[in-house]
Amino acid sequence: MAATTNVHPHLLRPLDLGFTTLRNRVMMGSMHTGLEDRFYNYPKLAAYFRERARGGVGLIVTGGISPNRQGWLLPFGGTLSSIFDLPNHRKVTQAVHEEGGKIVMQILHSGRYGYQPFVVSASSVKSPISLFKPRALTISGIQSTVKAYVRCAKLAQKAGYDGVEIMGSEGYLLNQFLCTRANQRTDAYGGSIENRMRLPVEIVRQVRAAVGPNFILMYRHSVLDLVEGGNSWAEVVQVAQALEAAGVTLFNTGIGWHEARTPTIVTSVPRAAFASVAARLKQAVTVPVIASNRINMPDEAGALIASGCVDMVSMARPFLADSEWVNKVAAGRVDEINTCIGCNQACLDHTFANKRASCLVNPRAGYETELVYRKAARKKRVAVVGAGPAGLSAATVAAECGHDVTLFDSADRVGGQFNIAMQVPGKEEFAQTIRYFSKKLEVTGVRVQLGQRVTREQLLSQGFDDIVVATGIVPRTPRIPGVERANGVTYLDVLQRKVVLGQRVAIIGAGGIGFDVAEFLLHDPAVALPVSIDHWCREWGVDLQAQSNGGLVAPEPAQPYRQLVLLQRKTTRVGAGLGKTSGWVHRAVLQRNNVEMLSGVEYQSIDDAGLHITVNGVARVLAVDHVVLCAGQEPLTELLAPAGEPAASGVPRFHTIGGAALASELDAKRAIREGAVLAASW
Ligand code: FAD
Ligand code: NAP
Ligand code: SF4
Repeated sequence: MAATTNVHPHLLRPLDLGFTTLRNRVMMGSMHTGLEDRFYNYPKLAAYFRERARGGVGLIVTGGISPNRQGWLLPFGGTLSSIFDLPNHRKVTQAVHEEGGKIVMQILHSGRYGYQPFVVSASSVKSPISLFKPRALTISGIQSTVKAYVRCAKLAQKAGYDGVEIMGSEGYLLNQFLCTRANQRTDAYGGSIENRMRLPVEIVRQVRAAVGPNFILMYRHSVLDLVEGGNSWAEVVQVAQALEAAGVTLFNTGIGWHEARTPTIVTSVPRAAFASVAARLKQAVTVPVIASNRINMPDEAGALIASGCVDMVSMARPFLADSEWVNKVAAGRVDEINTCIGCNQACLDHTFANKRASCLVNPRAGYETELVYRKAARKKRVAVVGAGPAGLSAATVAAECGHDVTLFDSADRVGGQFNIAMQVPGKEEFAQTIRYFSKKLEVTGVRVQLGQRVTREQLLSQGFDDIVVATGIVPRTPRIPGVERANGVTYLDVLQRKVVLGQRVAIIGAGGIGFDVAEFLLHDPAVALPVSIDHWCREWGVDLQAQSNGGLVAPEPAQPYRQLVLLQRKTTRVGAGLGKTSGWVHRAVLQRNNVEMLSGVEYQSIDDAGLHITVNGVARVLAVDHVVLCAGQEPLTELLAPAGEPAASGVPRFHTIGGAALASELDAKRAIREGAVLAASW
């Protein structure tokens, strides 16, 4: 891995806040795990934070805790409003302090984003992503909201937190007051920016007065709203200076409201894309400023600190992926970092589905007390066949638990389908997972035998106790007359660059792979990957200088490299099955590039004229040069006992995981989790 290691030590420099010192410049940003919402989950939450504190991070921010019922994100969401809540929170603070860490509690009032009927906001304006229309807070409602923040901060102090972070970004209540988009008031809290910032400034002033000078008061400030009716840069600065005067100790930065139609954290956003905006804020205030969003590795993070343009970096999801991130940097073991790949599949997508957050590349995240990699009582001889995500996970966890593991793959490299996924523009981060596992195989002492397609007989003859079949899938070939023609190719042929396609292409199958293939085919090979921050901003219409309100400008017109049609048989909206927090980005890219998306399709045949289909009974011929098959997959089961043969009992025991076990609904999240759970169970 090419690393500019000379910048890494800058991350480890302490940060003196006057009354307290943070042990380094790395902050674990706030993430809602779901554990904070139920009192009985606080022991699990404490274990989760304990591991992150032990991993060396300088400052931890909890998930959002509401100061009152109106501020709940969900019914009965995590709240700190009474002394009866203190014992739960003390479990968390004690765990972090025992590991030498520091933790601040985020006070989050959801405002109109709450998924509950008591929602309030600056004005009665519903957000485009909410179910409930908010009630506009009355003046007395505003005053009691300020009191709720103060009570919450004082209770946080009593619970042993080192400070609080007041959430003022991402479009939550305080952001709603700050911007005309959601604030249409005509009283002292609406109109001019002085009026719109009255509530956050009053909250900070009163919280500071209540908690005294020696308590961290961090404010997460929205420096780029990325919505129409957001704040201008002059307003962002004016608000920050007023907040600083009111008592803020340090500024964390936030990018984009949740309802913004510009991606801010998905994997296709270039690393550290928004750090320059945080750097501009640093020029305008005297307290330290923290950069956030799509910072995941020490090269970018260290360079930001080394240059002095910001004082700290915030990473949230990277600490789900690897609790030991900081310790690994400190020990010069950067190549052992399990990198967050920005997929959102097990973290944000879970949160939005009201499920516990975890991590695709680290299934232990959020499950620290339940999925434990203990030393095994008896060392087994284990064969794992298939070095895709499932096999890599099984092999490395088994070896970590002390077993003697041999990993086989017929390919000449490990990674399985991730080697293909990483070819998709915007998915370059997937290579990091392969790098991580490659190193982990070495560290845990797994014997790796590549370039060998093993057979059942070979495996049976080698005296293994357990054999893990992680052989993955084979692409499904749909039964369409003419599918075997040269102009019918699979996604593997395309992404492995085995074929050169014409300008007009039809894609059969609109699952995750169909969308990925479309993005691959739309990409102009003359544009280097990953795309630069500048290129990405032009594509999405982002003005990092925020000259316009909200930082939005007209995107550059797309210049599709090919003319594409994406098809599915289902009658649902094309792309409906994609991830909740990333699917809209993929759909937006295809729409912008004029990809025709058809649902309710029946495939008739493929011939020289192209692809013959009917849609709602109407026949059509798509005059395309090539048809790419992305029609799902079938399990590869060649190593399993032939049908009819009784399954072997006793030794060796066969286990099947990942795509080899079940190809439908398969993703890497399930593959990696299945491998880890199996190996940890021995
Ligand atoms: P595989 O990754 O298929 O690995 C199986 C391995 O077994 C292969 O390396 C193969 O060579 C080896 N093998 C097979 N038979 C033998 C044998 N007899 N002897 C030795 N070796 C053998 N998932 C997500 O979660 N998110 C995404 O964004 C995502 N994007 C994707 C994009 C693309 C373009 C593709 C193709 C896939 C994507 N996936 C994504 C799916 C994900 O990669 C798979 O779910 C995952 O790789 C399945 O893991 P696995 O270990 O079961 O199988
Ligand atoms: P998929 O999501 O199951 O999609 C398969 C597509 O093929 C569907 O659109 C399906 O739609 C179509 N299809 C199925 N059988 C067919 C047949 N016999 N004839 C014609 N069309 C058929 O699978 P995938 O796209 O291959 O992806 C594989 C796995 O990788 C998925 O589980 C996915 O989650 C994961 N992945 C995830 C991402 C991500 O961004 N999260 C990206 C890529 C891959 P109809 O049946 O309606 O025609
Ligand atoms: Fe990062 Fe994906 Fe893990 Fe979320 S699930 S922390 S985005 S790797």
